[in-house]
Amino acid sequence: MNIVLIGPPGSGKGSQAKLLEKAFELPHLSTGNMFRKMMHEDSELGKKVYGYMSKAQLVPDEVSIEVVQTHLQEPQYKNGFMLDGYPRTLNQAEQLDKVLNIDIAILLDTSLEVVASRVLKRRICPNCNEVYSLISYEGEVCSACGTPLAMRKDDNITTITNRFLEYEAQTKPVVEYYKQKGKLYEIDANETIEQIFEKIRQRLNDQKGK
Ligand code: AMP
Repeated sequence: MNIVLIGPPGSGKGSQAKLLEKAFELPHLSTGNMFRKMMHEDSELGKKVYGYMSKAQLVPDEVSIEVVQTHLQEPQYKNGFMLDGYPRTLNQAEQLDKVLNIDIAILLDTSLEVVASRVLKRRICPNCNEVYSLISYEGEVCSACGTPLAMRKDDNITTITNRFLEYEAQTKPVVEYYKQKGKLYEIDANETIEQIFEKIRQRLNDQKGK
């Protein structure tokens, strides 16, 4: 099954992707994590990516489409995958459809107020990219590798507001695109991680049975 997870930054895509990866044994590709790794690489592409990410802007389509679609050809994605943070523009969605079939697009729908309060409590391990929420985690170091946790540079109120507005402008057309194709599953992302996961799990099980 090929799944895309859509939602504003801080809507919980990463948390759901991790749970779903385990439950359905589907490899999870977070384009945000992929680009965060790339921006530290000493290459032309790395520098380019850094330029956009440091300004909290989307990596332009001509770069992101090439990078993601090439990556998806790797053997681990052959039997299905879960994309988190991609497609984020209508162009990305249309180009993706040209190379493979998306079975379902899951929309985690929420408001700027909710994502702002979540994002300010988000911490990340700079070493292994594990993500934590201070709502449920009280430690100061990564439980997987012991590295002190940090805030993502883009997790501040100005940036999150800009990113939310950018999401509304760029990614809402993607939502409409999958809706028109009858592939959109909308979910209220203001519920708890467990409640949301349960709904998605049931929906995917129904989908598998079709
Ligand atoms: P995320 O972790 O998903 O919030 O993404 C962090 C950053 O990675 C974004 O602000 C963009 O600069 C870049 N990025 C992630 N996914 C995409 C995408 N689909 N298209 C363009 N840029 C992206």
